[in-house]
Amino acid sequence: MNSLIIEYRNPLFGIFTIFLVIFISSFLTYAYNIYIERKSRKEYRNFIRKFELGDLKEDDYISLYTTYNLPFDSIILLASSFLHKGEYNKAISVYQALLLHVKEFVKKEELLELLGKTYFKGGFLQRSKEVYLKILKFSPRNKQALFYLLFIYEKLKDYDKVEDIMESLDELEEDIRMDKTYIRTLAIIDSVTLSPEEKTNKLLTIFHTNNLIERLFLQFLLKYNKDFFWQNIHLFTLNKIIDLLWYIDYNTINFTIVEQNKFLKSLYSAKGYIQDNTASELFELSVLISTKNSTLNVDLDLNFYFICSKCKKITPIHDNRCPHCHSILALQVKSQLSKGYYEKNSSLQ
Ligand SMILES: [Zn+2]
Repeated sequence: MNSLIIEYRNPLFGIFTIFLVIFISSFLTYAYNIYIERKSRKEYRNFIRKFELGDLKEDDYISLYTTYNLPFDSIILLASSFLHKGEYNKAISVYQALLLHVKEFVKKEELLELLGKTYFKGGFLQRSKEVYLKILKFSPRNKQALFYLLFIYEKLKDYDKVEDIMESLDELEEDIRMDKTYIRTLAIIDSVTLSPEEKTNKLLTIFHTNNLIERLFLQFLLKYNKDFFWQNIHLFTLNKIIDLLWYIDYNTINFTIVEQNKFLKSLYSAKGYIQDNTASELFELSVLISTKNSTLNVDLDLNFYFICSKCKKITPIHDNRCPHCHSILALQVKSQLSKGYYEKNSSLQ
């Protein structure tokens, strides 16, 4: 026992012990650092792999921003891939999560704009409205917020609110003359106090000064005032509404007037409602007329799609505003031949 105490008190032994402790602790720190480095390298590799596969989750975008310091604009660009794939909910989660981490005012505003736009695209009009109203509270001259609120109130048929927004856009010197005519037309069509005749007269007055509203006017007439349509057919460019005329109820067609109109004659002989051999200026109608008059058993039909005259994008369904660039009444109808109903169904079996 005594000898141990003597050994312990030996100064050389003390120095040796201190060095040993320092060595062990340095070794442990070194080993721990290697472990952490390997672990983060592995995480990073997994992350990059996910990135290559385009399989990033919402949380990964936050890691990219907070841990890997990827620039804000690059993250936004990456998140837009969700939008292109139509995965609106995922894009919304990314923007919402980023909003909690971003501190700069400009970035917050940009994120809110993206959030509002995505809600709008996804059809969540109320949410989109809330986001844009929030933006206007601190940035009342934000044009994107004003325009999107205009689109939203228009879809919700709240025309008084649309007027307020148009006033603000007017003050910001935006050219909204077309919007004003268009909204006035919609307000007349959707009015609950005006009779169909009163509506017709008001719409006719607008149409005489601005034929931009032609399709809207014709859509209204074909629904609520067919007599006026047939009696005033000379006022309209009928090939612009070939799709509406193609699907019109057979019993409501005035065939006396059809007989006097070259375009309608070829349209309804192509449809098989009347017999007429005159070739049409429209290739698709001519093909349909010749197959109807031949003995060949070809079942062809007509289909329609729409091209925006402003952004040139194609959409299968008509809308008053282009779903891509929001231009008013810019979608132009195009016809194409397709397999007929019976042939299409038999080919499915
Ligand atoms: Zn467009």
